[in-house]
Order: sequence, then C-alpha cells, then structure tokens
Amino acid sequence: MNSFSYLRVNSTREALNAVAADSGASFIAGGTNLIDLWKYDLSHPDLLIDLNQVDDLKALKSTGTGGVRLGALLSNADTAYHPVIESRYPLLSKAILAGASAQIRNMATNGGNLLQRTRCYYFYDANSPCNKRSPGSGCSALKGYNRIHAILGASEECIAVFPSDMCVGLAALGAVINIVGPNGDRRIPFADFHRLPGDRPDIDNTLKKGELITSIDLPAKGFEKNYSYLKLRDRHSYAFALVSVATGLELEGEIIKDARIALGGVSHKPWRVPEAEDLLRGKAVTPENFAQAADLILQGAKGYKYNQFKIELAKRAIVRNCMMALDPSTQRPGAQPSL
Ligand code: SF4
Repeated sequence: MNSFSYLRVNSTREALNAVAADSGASFIAGGTNLIDLWKYDLSHPDLLIDLNQVDDLKALKSTGTGGVRLGALLSNADTAYHPVIESRYPLLSKAILAGASAQIRNMATNGGNLLQRTRCYYFYDANSPCNKRSPGSGCSALKGYNRIHAILGASEECIAVFPSDMCVGLAALGAVINIVGPNGDRRIPFADFHRLPGDRPDIDNTLKKGELITSIDLPAKGFEKNYSYLKLRDRHSYAFALVSVATGLELEGEIIKDARIALGGVSHKPWRVPEAEDLLRGKAVTPENFAQAADLILQGAKGYKYNQFKIELAKRAIVRNCMMALDPSTQRPGAQPSL
C-alpha cells in the first residue's frame, strides 16, 4: 500500500512553492509514465502536485520571433492536430502521431513526453541489476537481450535508449525548452536537455530538482515543404522505435540549402550530428550524399549481441527518410515512397 498526499495547484508559483516544501513531491500532469513507474516501484512520491488546473501552461502561441511556443501541459494529441502545427511544423505532427496510442496521446503532455523514462525491460524488473534503477548494481542489458538498446553514445554503465518520437522531431527542429525554478527562469537548447548515460545513468536530463518545464519554443523555420519522419519497429503500432529518423530539408532546386537529421531509438537522447548537416549544405539531393551524411551520423556506432543490425538499419533509414523528404506526399497515411 502506497500512501501519498495530493495537491491541486492553480499557478506555477504555487507549484514551485509546493515542490520546494516537500523533498518527496512529484508533479503530475497526464501521468502516463509516472503511474507506470509507480506501479513498478520505480517512483514513490509522497506528495503528488497536480498541474492540470494551471491554464497558463496549456497555451499555444507565438514566440514573438516568428516561432511557436507550445505549452508544457498541452496534450500530445492537441499539439499534433493543431492547425498551426499541422501546417507549419508537419514534421513534429508526424513524429508525435508515430508514438504511443491515440488514448495515450490524448492524456500525455508535451512536458511529460520530454521526461519519460527508458523502456529497457531490465529497468522495470526489480530482480535484475540495473544502474539506472539502482546505481552501482550493474547493467543486465550489456550481456542480456539487448535488441532495443543503444548503438550510439552508450557507456559501460548503461546502454538504454530514450523512447520518445516527439523529441526526435523537436531535436531536428532545434527547439528550446523554457523552465522555471527556485533560482529563476532558464532556457535550454533541446540538444542540451537529455544527457548521455556516462557514469550516471540514473540521471536522464539536465532538469534540476524543484524546476518545472513551462513550454517548448519552436523556431520560425519548420521545414514544412520537405520533411519526413520514419519509424521502424517490430510492430506497426503501439511499439517503440528500433530506429527512427526525423528529416527536414530546405531546398533550392536540387541543392540542399539547409538540412536537419535526428535519430531516435539509438541512444540515451535524440541523436543529432551537426557536422553531417553541414556536409549536406550546398550538395545535391542524391542517395550518395545522404549516405555520406549517414556515415558521419553513425561514426563510432557500436552494436551488442542482439542489436548489431541497427547500425545498417539506421544507415538505410537515414538515406530512405531523406529521399522521402523530397516528396512529402509520401507522408500521407499508407503512402509508399517511390525509391
Ligand atoms: Fe539498466 Fe540502463 Fe542497463 Fe537497462 S541498459 S539494465 S536501464 S543500466
């Protein structure tokens, strides 16, 4: 029996005061990951601070610099189907809709999506050593069944991957996260929010204790003409990515003016290599050039017993997705790329 207290707050100030006053407190919004973690005894808050009445966090508005600010409490579904997101940031809409199920997307919030934890099976199994769950206990996945695990940025302490699709789209777009906390407001570029496991795999991101995500800023450039999100998984729906790729291209005729490529399902954070995007600028849109970029993105990739296949899969997925981005009609449900 887990006993806990519950507090409903109406403002971010009230939320910050409440969390500062109780070291065992946890914020709850959609609860789609927190309740799972609680059931598996991976989280046991003694105070739940319910944010759902904080209306300020539910807005979708202009950033004032040409971009769009997504409230942290907007649901994933409301974000994906919002006309502004569908028209200006279809890459993000597509990435969100590739994740979870319709029911979960209706409940899950944008802030919560960023904070979800890995789906490594050993993390959820109290009988298996896991450095993320119990630091210093070991990593069962290293020599265990590691089909869904990392090929990039892993450490000997942890080879888990971050499971979000939405965040792969946000990484490609170059979003910025707005945070409030006891020491004031701060903004974190998306690439700096999630962290690699290193020797502290128990820490997933750079959010500090007592801080709250209030919104996510999308930059003005949305790559709405040439984009694609490709998710490769064991089951067509309601499954996490083995490899996913978000691509945004800005073209001048057949020449690449700007490119963004982010990978999901391969690392402890969405994986983006700016040097690969630099390499594509000024080049023609050919499979050979995209393959060169893929080689750079996958430089240093290392597979384990059951996931070696992901390295070649990721390379092919990058090339295929970049070619699909040339013709966004391939993004219609059921459409097949003509490659
Ligand atoms: Fe735990 Fe990470 Fe190893 Fe999975 S990969 S068992 S989460 S330490």
